[in-house]
Amino acid sequence: MTDRRRALPAVDAVLRMHQVAALLAAHPRELVVRAVREVLAAARRAEAALPAGPEQWARRLDLRLAELTTPTLRRVVNATGVVLHTNLGRAPLAEAALRAVAAAGGGYSTLEYDLPRGTRGSRHVHCSELLAEITGAPDAIVVNNAASALLLALAVAAPGRGVVVSRGELIEIGGGFRIPEILAQSGAELVEVGTTNRTRLADYERAMARARTTTGKPGDVGAILKVHRSNFRLEGFTEEASLEDLVALGRKRGVAVLFDLGTGLMVDLTETGLPPEPTLPRAARSGATAVVASGDKLLGGPQAGILVGAKRFVAACRSHPLARAVRADKLTLAALAATLSLYRDPARARREIPVLRMLTTAVADLERRATELARRLPAPANAAVRPSRAAVGGGCFPGAELESRAVVIAPDNLSAADLASRLRAADTPVIGTVAAGRVVLDVRTLASGDEDAVVAAVRGALS
Ligand SMILES: *Cc1c(COP(=O)(O)O)cnc(C)c1O
Repeated sequence: MTDRRRALPAVDAVLRMHQVAALLAAHPRELVVRAVREVLAAARRAEAALPAGPEQWARRLDLRLAELTTPTLRRVVNATGVVLHTNLGRAPLAEAALRAVAAAGGGYSTLEYDLPRGTRGSRHVHCSELLAEITGAPDAIVVNNAASALLLALAVAAPGRGVVVSRGELIEIGGGFRIPEILAQSGAELVEVGTTNRTRLADYERAMARARTTTGKPGDVGAILKVHRSNFRLEGFTEEASLEDLVALGRKRGVAVLFDLGTGLMVDLTETGLPPEPTLPRAARSGATAVVASGDKLLGGPQAGILVGAKRFVAACRSHPLARAVRADKLTLAALAATLSLYRDPARARREIPVLRMLTTAVADLERRATELARRLPAPANAAVRPSRAAVGGGCFPGAELESRAVVIAPDNLSAADLASRLRAADTPVIGTVAAGRVVLDVRTLASGDEDAVVAAVRGALS
């Protein structure tokens, strides 16, 4: 140990090695110094051997500098078959949305500028008219994500007042987003009705009769909240009040009716074999005071919170102080507006919005793609095409599966876990799954051109 320490070179001595000069030319000096210190520290702690000579020093530093300069947020190939993979960034954007982001982000824009008048404008105009047009809602506002849209809606509808929610809808969405907690944060007070499996309209009526409504005093009911069970299924002996019934009840009692739809589904997808799910246009036309949806789930746009609803309610949301805290930025608004405008032509939306394209690709096309990909992989991969099951993901269509095709790889002298780890270490990392001792690469979630990255990663892993 003492010998090893005595053998450690000084940082300056390493920096003077002529083999290290190229690294100093390519990277800021501070970063190279940091890499040298880290290699020395690892050797001191006996975690790694000290580089034996200048050549080895240069190689080790080069590796460490590559690690330090690779962004932690980077593109990967999603071969998991989970279309809305939350850990992999949910929805990939359409080409039109990417172009809009580049245009808005690469220069100045009309974010808050009224061109005809030459005066200050509003960032809210860019998506609200489009949303009204394609959903049929009177008005709309876009914020940072659906969680903040719901927070804003509750803060506007029922500050310090009761919000009636079915016990079957007091759910957790993921990432610590729980309806009772969001409700508490908004300053509203939870009024639970019904049971986990059955909640009738009469349960809402009774709770609202008990709590005096619309007098504006604490303990009064300010809103009815319905939450779409987007990420789990309730089966068997169940009952719930429909959105339409709740809208009628809200009208009668003069309280707001909020619907947290979540998914942002714009088009019917039952032709793909998926079960029926409520769509945003249908919910928007229900007469609910506000409907909340996510931009980056089935809508296929950027992370955003969409709130569509009554004109006066949306106006109150716009002028609430929270709206400033949760406002969407120009890149989001650009991407969302471009995505929304694709929905003017639903056939075009299905073709050009990646999430919809992936969900609606025919199995015959997937079979062709998988066969072609397997053919391109090196022989030692022992690649074969197998039927697989893809999923919608993102907490949408819980339990539903889509028939799909995968290329399975099982090299002779490499374990599936090791192969999967090497694929993740590729220049463009490839994320697959491991099942029955094989790496499974589902082709339903591959973007066009991803095959080249998969071929390169598999070649690299097996060489
Ligand atoms: C996903 C989801 C949310 C949260 O959406 P984010 O955009 O991720 O904040 C809220 N409610 C429901 C019902 C959801 O499915």
